[in-house]
Formats: sequence, structure tokens, C-alpha cells
Amino acid sequence: MGGKEPTYFLRARYLEAIEAVGGLPLVLPLVTDTVRQRLVLAKVDGLLVTGGGADLAPKLYGERQRFKFRRMSRQRSSLELGIARLAYRSGVPTLGICGGMQSMNVALGGTLIQDITSQIPTALSHQPSCPPTKPAHSIEVVPQTLMRRIAGRATIEVNSSHHQSVKKLARPLFTSAMAPDGVIEAIESCSHPFYLGVQWHPECLYSRDPIQKRVFQALVKAAKNFAS
Ligand code: MN
Repeated sequence: MGGKEPTYFLRARYLEAIEAVGGLPLVLPLVTDTVRQRLVLAKVDGLLVTGGGADLAPKLYGERQRFKFRRMSRQRSSLELGIARLAYRSGVPTLGICGGMQSMNVALGGTLIQDITSQIPTALSHQPSCPPTKPAHSIEVVPQTLMRRIAGRATIEVNSSHHQSVKKLARPLFTSAMAPDGVIEAIESCSHPFYLGVQWHPECLYSRDPIQKRVFQALVKAAKNFAS
């Protein structure tokens, strides 16, 4: 929501990445109640929770706001948290990107580091000045995870454009990739066929990096399986 006239903003890259691997992207309406969120979710075979822009209000994970940052609108956070929770319960394949991964964690009861630089002074830069099409730091991918099957190896390079990250993991989730400084970079669930959150932006890398393309391919494949 922006300006005087309520308006939807969504980076086209997310939709282009889904189309590039044979999926059909649909943009969801900002429905804030569970009844309509359930109806919307029933229309799709998979869910991409996009990131970008503002951060979740810390009260949504039981904390007061400790640092200055822009809070997400009430409508958008209701949609993200509500639909991520419903998708977890109903087994809908779900990919969360950056803030979307953080919403998946909070939706299931986890918390967030509100500002990495302030709360982890030894952390490396997760908001470097390089463009998001360039890798910023490496991550270690945990063996025998969905992310490891997608990556095909233990260490990969990712971009980075976030000042928050997962603090306490929600109970049904585990870490499947970590930056060298300990910041959680990917999460997933073993009680769901495809519930993957990544802290980086594969939609800015997939055209040149086959590993990042496979993130979207895996989502679309899981969605096809879910549909049939
Ligand atoms: Mn990072």
C-alpha cells in the first residue's frame, strides 16, 4: 500500500522467475481474514511469499521495536502471516524470499533479529553496496536437506540485501543454510513436503546461476505434484 490511493507494488522479477521455469504466477489480493485467505489459497498450487520493503511489526513476535525501521502495513502482514500459516497446515508448497522467509518463521511462532548490525556486531555485511545481481557472501548448506538437494553442494554464493534475520526458529522449522557469521540463511520443515525460506534473492540471480534457477524449478515441480 502506498501513497494516498491504495496501490499494489510488486517487483516483476518474482513473476518473471516463476514464468521462466514454466509456472504461471498469480498475484494475490490483500485479504486479511482467514476465511478469504483460505479461499485464495485453494485457487493456487503453490505459494511464493515475496520480500522487499518494510519489516514486520515486532509486536507480531512478542517484542517491542528496538530500532528504527519502516513497519509493514497491517494488511500486508495479516496476509503474509495468515497465508503462510494456512499453507503450512494444508501442505501447499511454499517458497519465502527474504522478508517472506521471515514471515514464514513468525507465522509459525518464531522471532526475528530486528537489526543484524546492532544485535550481532561481529556479523558480516548483509546489506553490501554491490547490486543484488552479484554474490555478496557464501553460505553453508546443511546436508540431507531440501536446500542441499537444490544446491547440489555444501557451499554456495548468494546475494544479500537484508538487515533482519531469523532469531528463534519456529518449532516446526529447522536451519538448512547459514552464513559464516551464524546468520540463518535458509529454513525448511520436515513435516511439510515443500516449505522453504531463503534469506537471499534468487529472483535476481536465476538467469545466470543454475542453482538459483533450481530454487524456482523445485517450487514449480512441488506445485505440480501438489496439484495432481
Ligand atoms: Mn545474507
